[in-house]
Amino acid sequence: MNQPLNKNYGFVIDNRMCIGCHACSTACKSENEVPLGVYRTWVKTTEVGQFPDVTRQFQVTRCNHCANPPCVRICPTEAMYQRADGIVEFDSAACIGCKACMQACPYDAIHIDPVTKTAAKCHFCSHRTEIGLEPACVVVCPEHAIIAGDMNDPHSEISRVLSKNKTTVRKPEQGTAPKVFYIDGSEVNLTPTITERQPTTFSHADVVAMYGGDSTRAVQPPNAFKTTRAGEALRSPQSQGRPDQGPLSLGGRRVEQMVQVNYNAQHKVPWHWPVPAYLVTKGIGAGVVMVLALAWLILGVPFSAPVAIAGGLLSVVMMGVTTGLLVYDLEHPERFLYILLRPQWRSWLARGAIFLMGFSTLTGLWLAMEVAGSMGWLSESLVTDLRAPVLLTDVLLGIGAAIYTAFLFGQAEGRDLWQSPLLPFHLFVQALMVGSASLLVMDAFMEMPGELTQVLVWVLGASLVVDLFVTLLGEFGMPHASEVAAQAAHAITHGRYARLFWGGVIVVGHALPLLLLAFGGPLAGALAGVAVVVGLYAFEFAFVMAPQEIPNS
Ligand code: SF4
Repeated sequence: MNQPLNKNYGFVIDNRMCIGCHACSTACKSENEVPLGVYRTWVKTTEVGQFPDVTRQFQVTRCNHCANPPCVRICPTEAMYQRADGIVEFDSAACIGCKACMQACPYDAIHIDPVTKTAAKCHFCSHRTEIGLEPACVVVCPEHAIIAGDMNDPHSEISRVLSKNKTTVRKPEQGTAPKVFYIDGSEVNLTPTITERQPTTFSHADVVAMYGGDSTRAVQPPNAFKTTRAGEALRSPQSQGRPDQGPLSLGGRRVEQMVQVNYNAQHKVPWHWPVPAYLVTKGIGAGVVMVLALAWLILGVPFSAPVAIAGGLLSVVMMGVTTGLLVYDLEHPERFLYILLRPQWRSWLARGAIFLMGFSTLTGLWLAMEVAGSMGWLSESLVTDLRAPVLLTDVLLGIGAAIYTAFLFGQAEGRDLWQSPLLPFHLFVQALMVGSASLLVMDAFMEMPGELTQVLVWVLGASLVVDLFVTLLGEFGMPHASEVAAQAAHAITHGRYARLFWGGVIVVGHALPLLLLAFGGPLAGALAGVAVVVGLYAFEFAFVMAPQEIPNS
């Protein structure tokens, strides 16, 4: 006997019927007690054309209950989960408020509930669906523009509608298999980057500027600087992803200005300064041990107990600060142990926690061993015998701690710039860079063997050159695979973050330390070390912030 198929719930939004009355948004708010300022569903509205030939296009916008949901994959505590009936549901009681799901969703479908401080979104009114009722938005819609149901049931209304109509979904290229299907989907609403993220005003709501000040993005003037031999003006080649001029201009106005968002839900940037700061402190913690092990175990530099104790202490403190920053950034810091108590092992947040804990614990043990050895509490020969295996194991854990964020960023499918295949190697090089930089700062305050200082200078110099190469040619010099990634990269090198990037990252973080290293001496080495740490924070800040500012809805 055939087993009955699981249900597979989805929505059809019939744009031919939608009148933009916002009844669905209101019913959702009422049914699910959604607080002010956030939305589980909303009607994005875009005006297209030039007066008097203007049309207003609607898009009921919400979680797509993706068949392959990245928000579920990245959640470290199974607070976001996919039910057998295809509904992507959340559990407020399990959510630690890490906001990773918001980075993973390529559709801006998730917000932090300001009351519960946990992730929330459309959940298909599962409390109604389970007892045979339709979601509140479906019931309230006066035009029957929203159809919800089981797509595995060939007799359901949604199956019949889907079989008879051409539909489209939001961002199919993301591979998430969205299950909100639009009949007569509007391209200008489906593609967020077609329009300005923050127009000056919405028709019936205020626009809140992302960082205060002017809410509009400066429009780049068209550039026409060169001429042909015949004197004909040429446009200079533009950078990828953000055309200075649209394909069409009418009456001297770019078409973009005639495709304006009339209403949309605004979304906050989920991750701020603690994330770039944690990337730097984690790099120092792992890098110090990696560089010392390289010097002692591979390059044959004579071992120094005071350097081992000071370096071990620095690493342990930096890993403590790293953990503190991660916990501080949670909306529910008191729940941070849920990552270990109810882990979801496909999440690189959960896997990363193991690397961080393992590396911090072993570094602490190594430090205790070196202290015990130098105090005479452990025999010198035992400490010498144990040093190499302990350090090598610690280095492996340290490499894991340094690079796991690349895989976490890879799971953040809403931020295309972070999906860089170079990132694991880049984080590894950055750890060597800030590890040797921090040890050079230490060198100014303690007696360090000359051979070790030499190694630190060479490791820092080489890693700076490699990092410069990877940053300028790899991360930002190559064309990006998606328009969204190209826009984020452009914001870093030529837009909002350009000064920070060229001044902070390239000049302060690379050129200045290389110059100081060429001078030589402990003071120059220490200053170079400080400049490298400052430059790395500048890079991580731009790299973390810029992709979050590209619209996903
Ligand atoms: Fe919904 Fe976004 Fe998760 Fe897809 S990725 S199921 S749209 S929250």
